[in-house]
Amino acid sequence: MFKKLKEYDVSNKRVFLRLDLNVPVKEGKIKDDSRITAALPTIRYLLERNARVVAASHLGRPKNGPAPEFSLAPVAKRLAELLPGTDVVFAGDVVGDDAFSKASALKEGELLLLENLRFETGETKGDEELAAKIRKFGDVYVTDAFGAVHRAHASVFQAPKLFDVVLAGFLIEKEIQYLKENLEKPERPYFALLGGAKVSDKIPILKSLVEKVDGIAIAGGMAYTFLYARGEKVGRSILETEMVGTATAIMKRAAERGIPFLLPVDHVIASSMEDPVPTESAKIDDNSSAFDIGPKTIALFAAEIKKAKTIVWNGPMGVFEKEQFRKGTVEIAKAVADTGAVKIVGGGDSVSAIKVAGVENRITHISTGGGASLELIAGDKLPGVEILYEKGQ
Ligand code: AMP
Repeated sequence: MFKKLKEYDVSNKRVFLRLDLNVPVKEGKIKDDSRITAALPTIRYLLERNARVVAASHLGRPKNGPAPEFSLAPVAKRLAELLPGTDVVFAGDVVGDDAFSKASALKEGELLLLENLRFETGETKGDEELAAKIRKFGDVYVTDAFGAVHRAHASVFQAPKLFDVVLAGFLIEKEIQYLKENLEKPERPYFALLGGAKVSDKIPILKSLVEKVDGIAIAGGMAYTFLYARGEKVGRSILETEMVGTATAIMKRAAERGIPFLLPVDHVIASSMEDPVPTESAKIDDNSSAFDIGPKTIALFAAEIKKAKTIVWNGPMGVFEKEQFRKGTVEIAKAVADTGAVKIVGGGDSVSAIKVAGVENRITHISTGGGASLELIAGDKLPGVEILYEKGQ
């Protein structure tokens, strides 16, 4: 098992805290601070116990060391606003003189945020020397960086190896509880709902889920490769011809296991995404694309959703960003929200889709990680999660 934050007395300790503060920043302004606010419970818990906290995160993908547009300075400013009464200190480097002198001057109940971890090129390489430097920032390693646990990066995987005490923060604790522990022994029937643009992005999760679940429904752009594989006409809908073999193999496996494998039976079609008059149709003509699921499909999926005790959902049912193609995603979100099942939604766009439908408060768990959620749901071993289990023994 892994050790949770509350299972160790962090009072007055020096803590290195790995966070995921990878927020969208444009011209120095934060466009969406939800990752910062999501990290607050763990930060507050540590500060209230008078820990001296050295926090670190990555932001974006700087390629060759420091680059001002990827600085965490705006994040430090926002953190200070969100933590009134707390001294939030910002270091201009990661493991340089500024960081270490500010870390040693840190008083109990104070927070130091380091500059972007990826300004150190060793971070993404999983460099052990960088990890050894990170070790010097504290005696306790706490992680809440769920968005990064699928990477064997220095601060995620190598650094915690060097600490005696390694703890999961509140965010990670919930993610592991729902995406790993619960799904290893799901309440059945266990139903998976997958959408989004491409089959190719979701092959590992599809291959894994088809072995585990009691039913699958596929919609969104990826459904059209499956329909094509079944011999149906898909017009100009998104089609990944190189994925047709994989799609066929997945459907064959579902048939061998005798589980329902649902695909759209009707669609909302249009001649282009900009077309203001979408049409509901069971067929897709040669000059049209399908951008949403139709009413019969909504009813078909909803009936299956009703029977489920565990539901995993990733990816919108259609081009939900556009009003004309939103209904499928909204109706399915409502159907999911209405069940008493354990409802787990993972991945960036799925989260926006749930918000568009306004049902986010009726979902058991909305995962904050994109790639990390999918890999954990698929049952993969993630470096940043495995190390927590190893250290929690
Ligand atoms: P993903 O990031 O793979 O979950 O894909 C999300 C994207 O898939 C969204 O931007 C949707 O607009 C897009 N999408 C969903 N359904 C379709 C469709 N039928 N045709 C084209 N794009 C779609």
